[in-house]
Amino acid sequence: MNIHQYYPIDVVNGPGTRCTLFVAGCEHACPGCYNQRTWRLNSGIPFTIDMEEKLIGDLNDRRIPRQGLSLSGGDPLHPANVPDVLRLVRRVRRDCPGKDIWLWTGYTLAELSAAQQQVAAELDVLVDGKFIRELKDPALVWRGSSNQVIHYLR
Ligand code: SF4
Repeated sequence: MNIHQYYPIDVVNGPGTRCTLFVAGCEHACPGCYNQRTWRLNSGIPFTIDMEEKLIGDLNDRRIPRQGLSLSGGDPLHPANVPDVLRLVRRVRRDCPGKDIWLWTGYTLAELSAAQQQVAAELDVLVDGKFIRELKDPALVWRGSSNQVIHYLR
């Protein structure tokens, strides 16, 4: 899996202070997408074991408590990303007790494949749906357009 950005301290993408990972790869091609450079799966840089260890360490850092992990992109549920994202969220569940996991995807919850549902089963919150420019509303919190839904899964 490739990524575009990792923010070890983020107060914008989800509630509280968080670690946020923007992954590469998205097949939705929403008109007006804010992050078109992330569409190609091979854009960005590889997400390495060292990066994963850093992320786990950051989530457990007691000097700057993090509420949890946010996964965005691109699309963390692009089929090519699902195996790596599943392994990552399972590790966060195992090694970072008490941390929540939010994930943004262009797929709707109802559209998820069996493999994508395995990831959803590990999440606290899934924000779903394509970005629809005509439904864009800057007043929305954690969503770009009003068709998108914040699903509290736990
Ligand atoms: S799902 Fe998100 S990243 Fe993908 S095209 Fe739509 S707005 Fe862009």
